[in-house]
Amino acid sequence: MTVLDPSQWLTRFAALIDENTDRLTELDAAIGDADHGGNIRRGTTAITETLTGTTPATPGETLQQAGMVLIRTIGGASGPLYGTFFLRFATTTGTGELDAPTFAAALRAGVEGIVARGKPEPGDKTMYDALAPAADAFDNSRAAGADFAQSLDAALTAAEAGRDATIPMQARKGRASYLGERSVGHQDPGATSAALLIRAARQALT
Ligand code: ADP
Ligand code: MG
Repeated sequence: MTVLDPSQWLTRFAALIDENTDRLTELDAAIGDADHGGNIRRGTTAITETLTGTTPATPGETLQQAGMVLIRTIGGASGPLYGTFFLRFATTTGTGELDAPTFAAALRAGVEGIVARGKPEPGDKTMYDALAPAADAFDNSRAAGADFAQSLDAALTAAEAGRDATIPMQARKGRASYLGERSVGHQDPGATSAALLIRAARQALT
C-alpha cells in the first residue's frame, strides 16, 4: 500500500516555498501588499523547526501540529486559511496512515475548511481556484482506476491549470479585491502557493 508521509510532504513544501519566496512576494506586490512569500515562508520554516527533533507522531498529529503552527506564525489572510486546511485535513486523517482514499477525503475536508473560513467561490481569484480543481481531479482519477501517484499527477495538473486560470479573473476576496478591475491580468499569489502544496505532495510520494 502506498502511503504519503506527512513529514516528507511538509518538508518538500517548505523547500518549494524557499525556492519560490521571491516569486510569491512579487505576485502579491502586484495585487496585494507584497508579503505572501514572507508570510508562507515564516510558516513553513516554523513547521520545519517543529518537525526537527519531535518524536514520531501519527500522520494526523503531525498535520494538526502543522496547522496550529501556520495559524500562529503566518498572520495575514493566508495563515488562518492554510491553518484551517491542515487542521481539517488532520482530523479526517485520524490516527491511521495517509493512503489514497484517506488523502482524498482529507483533501476534500481541507478545501471545505477554507470555504468555511474564507467563503471563497469558484472564480474569486483565490487559493480555492487551485485547490478545488485538484481535489476534483484526484477523485475523478481514482474513480477511473488510477493509483495514488497517478491521481496526484492529475491533481497537480489541475492545480496548476487552476492557478493559471486566476490570471484573467477579477479578485472578489481578500486584499486584491480592493483593486477591482485592476486585479485582472495577474496570477493570484495564494493559488500559486497552493499549487506548490500539491506539487510537494507529489514529490513526497516518490
Ligand atoms: P494578506 O492578503 O493578508 O496579505 P497573504 O498575502 O498571505 O495575506 O495571502 C493572500 C492570498 O490569500 C490571496 O492571494 C488569496 O489566494 C488568499 N485569500 C485571501 N482572502 C481569501 C478568502 N476569503 N478565501 C480564500 N482565499 C483567500
Ligand atoms: Mg499579502
